[in-house]
Amino acid sequence: MLTGTSTAAAGAGALLSILRDGQARTRAELVELTGLARSTVSLRLDALLSQRWVVPGDDVISSGGRPATAFTFNKSARIVLAADLGATHARLAVTDLAATTLAEREAEMPIGRGPEAVLTWLVDTFRELLDECGRRLADVCGVGVGLPGPVEHDTGKPVNPPIMPGWDGFPVPDWLGARLGVPVLVDNDVNMMALGEYWAGRSQVEHLVYVKIGTGIGCGIISGRRLHRGAQGAAGDIGHIRVPSSDENVACRCGNIGCLEAVAGGAALAARLRAAGHETADTRDVVRLVRAGNTEAIQMIRQAGREVGVVLASIVNFFNPAMILIGGDLAGAGEHLLAGLREVIYSRSLPLATQHLSVRVSELGDRAGVVGAAVMIIEHMLSPEAVDQALSA
Ligand SMILES: [Zn+2]
Repeated sequence: MLTGTSTAAAGAGALLSILRDGQARTRAELVELTGLARSTVSLRLDALLSQRWVVPGDDVISSGGRPATAFTFNKSARIVLAADLGATHARLAVTDLAATTLAEREAEMPIGRGPEAVLTWLVDTFRELLDECGRRLADVCGVGVGLPGPVEHDTGKPVNPPIMPGWDGFPVPDWLGARLGVPVLVDNDVNMMALGEYWAGRSQVEHLVYVKIGTGIGCGIISGRRLHRGAQGAAGDIGHIRVPSSDENVACRCGNIGCLEAVAGGAALAARLRAAGHETADTRDVVRLVRAGNTEAIQMIRQAGREVGVVLASIVNFFNPAMILIGGDLAGAGEHLLAGLREVIYSRSLPLATQHLSVRVSELGDRAGVVGAAVMIIEHMLSPEAVDQALSA
């Protein structure tokens, strides 16, 4: 049964959603915006003020000769712990409720060390970062983690992750939740990067595709302002689509042949350049060679762009995104990669789908994943339902 307080709280989350744009508003303005009675708006504001989700602004606005207090979203009310765990590197951050970084750390941390070693390090580093920015674990509303492999979204468990020995089925949310005492959400790194870029773009674009081209290739999809994960969380795994290529019979680490990743991924390019006598251990070496103006590497990267472009042209026709963002280490090759991509996307997609399509390099670069992990928690904890529930608890 609802008590008086929770009835008031029942609509407070929706009121908070309005104020999350950062603009300060008076009671009268909120009454006009929501169409609710002034007494209802006051009850809901009081509930939000009691938990400091909302604070009275400094400005006193004069309306009809009478000064009125304006209320504003308090983005410091809680903090978020976010982690982007890659194959060899990790980036961790403490952020406020606007995904602004309060403390951040980048470190070498091979995911292959296994879940207990990596997650123990994660917990220790989060504690250090909290000390650094003078906040406590009690201020944390949630932990967001991106992992470099497929993750079953409902349970947050990695599923047969090819480069993560020992992580298959490991209960990451339970393990971290037991040690940090806050809700934990886990997703794959490319989804987090797509979400981070969408957020950084100030939500100007409703439909976008983020393509990570590193050692492997994958994409994250924002559809109608929401992350599209698919039925099991496997949406966007474009690296294992078979592509027509001169190197059609090349074996992929997934066991199939001719996969996009095996033809155009950073590991494949590095291997091919090695065979041609260059010292390219990984994707970053390939990019270095391209930047140094090596013709062979430049031609190879343009061709890789065309091969990824073939798959993206199909995605453009099927999904009609307004923007395609390219990230991952190979994005460092910049215009050489984009030239090959654009050439194929614009010639093979329908004119209506490409009329306003923009194809460019990611804005956030290496930080996209950690920003996205923070955004995943913020969107979850500040959803109207979650706020109402927190206020009635
Ligand atoms: Zn494959």
